[in-house]
Amino acid sequence: MNNFNRSGILFVVSAPSGTGKTTLCTSVRQTPDLVYSISCTTRPIRTGEKDGVDYFFLTQSEFQKKMKEGEMLETADVYGHLYGTPKEPVLEHLAAGRDVLLDIDVQGARQVRSTQDPKIKEALADIFIMPPDLEELKRRLQGRGTEDDQQIAKRIQAADAEMADWKSYRYTILSSSMEEDLIKFRAIIRAERYLSRRLDLQHG
Ligand code: 5GP
Repeated sequence: MNNFNRSGILFVVSAPSGTGKTTLCTSVRQTPDLVYSISCTTRPIRTGEKDGVDYFFLTQSEFQKKMKEGEMLETADVYGHLYGTPKEPVLEHLAAGRDVLLDIDVQGARQVRSTQDPKIKEALADIFIMPPDLEELKRRLQGRGTEDDQQIAKRIQAADAEMADWKSYRYTILSSSMEEDLIKFRAIIRAERYLSRRLDLQHG
């Protein structure tokens, strides 16, 4: 019987803060055949978060050392804190045929897209989650109650700039309900897994 083998896919997801991307990624993380890449960050740990699960929480100098030693696939300064994706685990998972999910901002996605590493280039499938509009985004941010008015204003301004990047992504989902977004997200994951160029035919 014929069978297929394939290397892993690198799903990169970006969305302005408040779009619901974290909830979306949390749902997708429960998919057993997808590995969530745990980022490093210098931002303070929030209540309920666990080191090594949500992020690797590092000091500024620990983070910079990793950067200097070429351990990061991409890095970005988001709202005054450093964030970055450890490179080695991503490459290992892809080589083993496991799909990887990166939840990173637009600056990071830009770096991943412009990488010279052929394995990353081939594996990449990037997805932008677009908020319905800035008013709705503001309502969602106010609803979640984790930022004050000044921080919300800053995030709305950043969202406006981030949304300008949507055309650079292979896929864009216009965010509606969480259920709808998840259905679309899963459809993209499924379609990417059937791309002929990703498959190797194994004659049994
Ligand atoms: P938060 O601090 O709320 O968890 O995340 C803030 C922003 O940082 C989100 O937009 C998230 O996608 C982004 N982010 C998280 N990890 C990384 C990373 O490793 N690299 C980059 N470039 N952005 C990240």
